[in-house]
Amino acid sequence: MSDIDREQKHIVLEQMDSKSGEMIAPCRTLAYDTLVLAIGSTSNDFGTLGAKEHCIFLDSRQQADRFQNEFLNLYLQAQSKVAGRGDDTISNKRLDIAIVGAGATGVELAAELHYAAHQFCKYGFKVSPENVRISLIEASNRVLPGLSEQVSASAQAELLKMGVNVLTEHKVTKIDDSFIYFENGQSLPATLKVWSAGIKAPDFLKNIAGLETNRINQLIVHSTLKTTLDSHIFAMGDCASYTPAGQQRAVPPRAQVANQQAIFLEQALKAHIEQAGLPEFVFKDKGSLVSLSEKTSVGSILGNINIQGFCARMMYVSLYRFHQMALHGFWKTSVFILKDRLSRSARPPLKMH
Ligand SMILES: Cc1cc2nc3c(=O)[nH]c(=O)nc-3n(C[C@H](O)[C@H](O)[C@H](O)COP(=O)(O)OP(=O)(O)OC[C@H]3O[C@@H](n4cnc5c(N)ncnc54)[C@H](O)[C@@H]3O)c2cc1C
Repeated sequence: MSDIDREQKHIVLEQMDSKSGEMIAPCRTLAYDTLVLAIGSTSNDFGTLGAKEHCIFLDSRQQADRFQNEFLNLYLQAQSKVAGRGDDTISNKRLDIAIVGAGATGVELAAELHYAAHQFCKYGFKVSPENVRISLIEASNRVLPGLSEQVSASAQAELLKMGVNVLTEHKVTKIDDSFIYFENGQSLPATLKVWSAGIKAPDFLKNIAGLETNRINQLIVHSTLKTTLDSHIFAMGDCASYTPAGQQRAVPPRAQVANQQAIFLEQALKAHIEQAGLPEFVFKDKGSLVSLSEKTSVGSILGNINIQGFCARMMYVSLYRFHQMALHGFWKTSVFILKDRLSRSARPPLKMH
């Protein structure tokens, strides 16, 4: 979808091409009586100089694959330099990896990279984990700024214990091939750079068809999830911004919100079509869990109960299985669990290609 014509009540679908460039379907329109926009979000680099050119974003599978590839290449490069010296010593060249944005994605990635750095030695790589510097950069004064201070403090303590270089109150102003520059005048060397500092709705949504949008292109919606200026257009998930009455902040762009809004809309759309009174969306925050690699997780559940350690890890794993169950049903998920258990001993801990 690339545009909306509210007068004609249709959306515009762009031409669809095959990978080889052959046209599959031409540019066309699609009529609607009621439209629900649920087109998600993309990374937001806030116009930071050099971010687009020098950072890897994590919006798609292709970008994640690119990150994995560049991460492995960094190791292979360091390894070949050691081998070139013809000795068996450990490389003392430091690998600098920087993650911009200490939200859940940045924190989880930092912990996973720390785990990977330790696993690489087991594959015979001569790059010592001590020589891999993982920096997690955050503009606000704490990691996980969207979660409670206690969860944030637990996560930060775990990351510091792992040796992650946590830089809070460091606002990035510019990035080039080898460095990240901060507002405070400092800079940090970084070979591999990942950007995970916030989201925005797709640019083409900005004031689309005269609808009201915010500074990150999200469509502003009422408590019914109807857009403020058109009662036939609903928006949900990351591309929508809903601020509950009496609150300062909009509900967060998370899977939990999108999921609850989808369930809500199933009922609300029936009422809308039958021209009955619409219910109001109420977000019930069931908590958040952040994985800190294999052994531990941190988070909060049931409103404000903070959890961490093995218990949180078990909950994180169970949550993943619940998601699988929602998609595949109970029996298929049980088979997946069994298959994963059986193949665990034969599978390598790191995917190298
Ligand atoms: C790396 C990463 C990790 C995350 N981890 C978590 C997590 O652990 N917990 C959590 O709660 N949230 C997490 N999120 C956020 C979560 O993925 C989103 O909040 C959630 O997917 C939003 O759901 P949505 O339906 O609004 O959008 P999406 O799930 O993004 O779905 C939007 C769909 O619309 C399609 N689309 C986009 N533009 C168009 C267009 N113009 N025309 C047609 N189709 C279009 C997209 O291809 C996509 O399939 C993570 C996000 C990322 C990037």
